Amino acid sequence: MTDDARAIDQALEAARERYRIEREKRLRPEANDQYRDFSGEYEEFDHDPYSPPIVRDPIEADTEVVIVGGGFGGMLAAANLTKLGITDFRLIEKGGDFGGTWYWNRYPGCMCDVESYVYLPMLEETGYMPTMKYAYAPEIFEYCQLLGRHFDLYRAALFQTEVADMTWDDATGRWTTVTDRGDRLSSKYVVVAGGVLSKPKLPGIPGIEQFEGAKFHTSRWDYSQTGGGPYDHMEKLEDKVVGVIGTGATAVQVVPAVARSAKELFVFQRTPASVGVRNQGPTDVEWFKSLTPGWQQERIENFTRCVTGTQPDVNMVDDEWTRFFWVDTKKMAADDAEALELEREDLEQMEALRRRVDEIVEDPETAAKLKPWYGKACKRPCFHDDYLPAFNRPNVHLVDTDGRGVDRITAKGVVVAGVEYPVDILVFASGFEVTTDYTHRLGFDPKGRGGVSMSDSWADGPHTLHGVLTHDFPNLMMISTVQGGFGVNFVHYLTETSRHVAELIRQCEDEGVRTIEASTQAEEEWFDLLMTMVGGLAVYNAACTPGYLNGEQGPGTIKSARNSPYMGSVLDYANVLRQWRAAGGLQGAEVAKA
Ligand code: NDP
Repeated sequence: MTDDARAIDQALEAARERYRIEREKRLRPEANDQYRDFSGEYEEFDHDPYSPPIVRDPIEADTEVVIVGGGFGGMLAAANLTKLGITDFRLIEKGGDFGGTWYWNRYPGCMCDVESYVYLPMLEETGYMPTMKYAYAPEIFEYCQLLGRHFDLYRAALFQTEVADMTWDDATGRWTTVTDRGDRLSSKYVVVAGGVLSKPKLPGIPGIEQFEGAKFHTSRWDYSQTGGGPYDHMEKLEDKVVGVIGTGATAVQVVPAVARSAKELFVFQRTPASVGVRNQGPTDVEWFKSLTPGWQQERIENFTRCVTGTQPDVNMVDDEWTRFFWVDTKKMAADDAEALELEREDLEQMEALRRRVDEIVEDPETAAKLKPWYGKACKRPCFHDDYLPAFNRPNVHLVDTDGRGVDRITAKGVVVAGVEYPVDILVFASGFEVTTDYTHRLGFDPKGRGGVSMSDSWADGPHTLHGVLTHDFPNLMMISTVQGGFGVNFVHYLTETSRHVAELIRQCEDEGVRTIEASTQAEEEWFDLLMTMVGGLAVYNAACTPGYLNGEQGPGTIKSARNSPYMGSVLDYANVLRQWRAAGGLQGAEVAKA
């Protein structure tokens, strides 16, 4: 063995050991149960700070399709239905406008972490040019409104409205959807686009409810407490001490903005984020004007190829995302030699990010605490040019909890390792539910044939065909990551799945279909296919720190396995859907004709 090879082996051995130690510090038997949603004693977190209450009478209506969710998934379903000539639909949305994630997330610094030209859907149809390479949240929210106007969706929308009950009637072949406002909608189809990161979670830290200062989750940013706006100085923070709990993708964007405005900022860290270069910049107008028809789908697909290790000849987006995931280090290796090669590659990339911390953060002790010790695909990587420099400011203090998390919250502040840090305002950058039960995340439990609830039908985990159709729930179509697509660019798979759903409804109408649902056999075949894809990732995840990408390292049950998305590329998932439609015959679906 050469000296070089020996040095690499030693570095690998040391990293493995460090990763193991950091992982074990963070394992919690409660897994997802360590978090709380906005119910019960936490209900006060669930107010809408952005829109005044809408006053309206309940409605009763017959319609062709009820769409649940006014984020990109629901809007794209509605837009695609419209393009296929189906305009008789109603759309139910909890927020006060369209946007979903982009309605709720208005925290300072909020921006798209994926390039706008591949993230914002239907740019060619709307003719819209994003102003920045990575659009800021207000622009994305405005784009959602533009989409709403472009496809005439506002006439169909019921905002500030939530589904209370959804029941199938076999005799009439229709769904009845009842809302929390007493609306009663009868429809042949329901499209459930409940969102991906739509249900905020709070850490189950004792004492949250006792805190006497202002407190809110990042997805409910309260500018009445902070002053300013998403782009502006927050003048009410000038004499305030702010605490931010969490250091994920949201915190990476929030921290620099709050640091610029607050008297003091304490950042409470359980696990450091990995933070690469961003290189934000304005759109090159001449370049944008020079794009030719078909450019967006080509660029979207190229981006997905680049971040799934397919390594196309051209890297169109050519940013840190595409470079970071150019090699898919979590794939199933063909043999031990390749496994070692992938591990080395992963280590080198993470070493580069750890060196970046040393290069930017001046205090060596703070720098050491900000270094991420896990594989590159364990958590969603972050890219930001102002996050690490924020820790060089005299008013910003990192409180590292060494993997344990915050101990307690008191009336006055946050307790870590026996020390109380008094704060005036407490911000929870603690993320969203991802792998909890689907019906819990939806906030309602559809009742299908014979009154069976989805939670009972899926007691051992989800059963679907393509993540879209499910047995005993006729004419219900889901746009979700549960057994459906998943990837770096969420909007790519929302685009593909919403198109599939719209085309499926069009086909059913054209062929006189009364009901469509998955056969149980097709559901099992789909699940078997999903399981063939998780091997490499399961091995990779076993060495990861907990997080939402690995179900917080909860116990590997059949239920958690059934919750799995389609782990291949969105392009492969889209091909499966396309080929299935092209084959005709709705294979694997149980169909009854009118
Ligand atoms: P995350 O789940 O990524 O982060 C939550 C943070 O809270 C983690 O740092 C977590 O630590 C920490 N935390 C949880 N419990 C405790 C505790 N008891 N004490 C201290 N800290 C705690 O949520 P985010 O909102 O940051 O991001 C979620 C996802 O949203 C992203 O991964 C991304 O997909 C999406 N997003 C997308 C953006 C975009 O631009 N498109 C922008 C922002 C978010 P630990 O890591 O140890 O669990």
